[in-house]
Amino acid sequence: MEYRIGVISGDGIGPEIVAEAKKVLDKIGEKYQHRFHYTEILMGGCSIDAVGVPLTEEAIAAAKASDAVLMGSIGGNTATSPWYKLAPELRPEAGLLKLRKELNLFANLRPAYLYEELKEACPLREDIIGDGFDMMIMRELTGGLYFGERKTEMVDGVMTAVDTLVYNENEIRRIAKRAFDIAKKRRKKVTSVDKANVLDSSRLWRKVVEEVAADYPEVSCEHMLVDNCAMQLVKDPGQFDVILTENMFGDILSDEASMVTGSIGMLSSASLNDTKFGLYEPSGGSAPDIAGLGVANPIATILSAAMMLRFSFDLDKEADAIEAAVKQVLKEGYRTIDIMPRGDLGTGAANASVTQVGTAEMGDLIAERI
Ligand code: NAD
Repeated sequence: MEYRIGVISGDGIGPEIVAEAKKVLDKIGEKYQHRFHYTEILMGGCSIDAVGVPLTEEAIAAAKASDAVLMGSIGGNTATSPWYKLAPELRPEAGLLKLRKELNLFANLRPAYLYEELKEACPLREDIIGDGFDMMIMRELTGGLYFGERKTEMVDGVMTAVDTLVYNENEIRRIAKRAFDIAKKRRKKVTSVDKANVLDSSRLWRKVVEEVAADYPEVSCEHMLVDNCAMQLVKDPGQFDVILTENMFGDILSDEASMVTGSIGMLSSASLNDTKFGLYEPSGGSAPDIAGLGVANPIATILSAAMMLRFSFDLDKEADAIEAAVKQVLKEGYRTIDIMPRGDLGTGAANASVTQVGTAEMGDLIAERI
């Protein structure tokens, strides 16, 4: 089969990690007789540098013309990069927000999975980790606070900023259905996270989730306040299967969930719309602190490519092959710097059980095991 993949390499470590995902995809293509055609799409800081805006109409059209989009990451150092002196709508992140909206990517999936081999990298105590954890965070991505009206103005001589949090029942229903559909294929539990003791938007969220839950009797549904969820993620992460939540809560909780797995460099993500189309990217950002050093972990991007094969192209066998190759490489003891056992961090040395490798070497090792 032939597939058209839009590729947004982006900024910082983006181009380095995307190159490794393409390497692995090409190996899949070779082994399973598929052809992946890549179209480079400019977005983020690199697009600002090239054409003055973070996302052009041509870039949107190129993304829409693809079967799926694979992305690295966008943005720079928010304290020092000149991109952050621009008006908010011209900054790198504005490109991504616009693309998500244009492509109607309302469902963001972020797995947080603890690899047996990386238990040491997990910052939680062993008795908390227990048998490990495997959760999927389903975050609403095109509504809520990040897309509501905002303004900063003088009110009675005092500078005042307003952000608006809006959700309608249809937006809540479509994401809730996605969450229950996914839970049905997993351990059949949805934890819907809100702030229903304070926010009207959360009270509507809870009501609509209840209505959807009634159509899925085989899936259990519980509601949890967001502050409690933040605590439970570090107290007992094994209790979660699918966490369903709105945009801002999901932004924060999914980063917290990534951290308890030990490395953000391991976690993939998918953003889906109502069709088979999806945008696939690592959960982390552009990591400007390590950009260009050849040390970034490409596994999250490689696993995002596996999600693309599974969700957009229905190539489950091929996705399984990538995931198995990643597990194999970890089992053999290869680690990028972010997932090295703490005592060996930065030594560049091999001890009896682990060997530190760079970005390209990690990509090679995974591709070789496909
Ligand atoms: P970050 O995720 O880029 O970095 C946080 C820490 O994690 C850093 O120490 C970094 O070195 C490390 N890290 C991240 N990915 C890694 C990888 N693959 N391998 C090894 N280590 C990795 O978050 P930040 O520093 O808050 O943000 C930097 C920039 O990224 C900002 O401009 C931010 O807006 C942007 N950002 C972009 C996206 C996206 O493209 N979707 C997401 C989050 C942040």
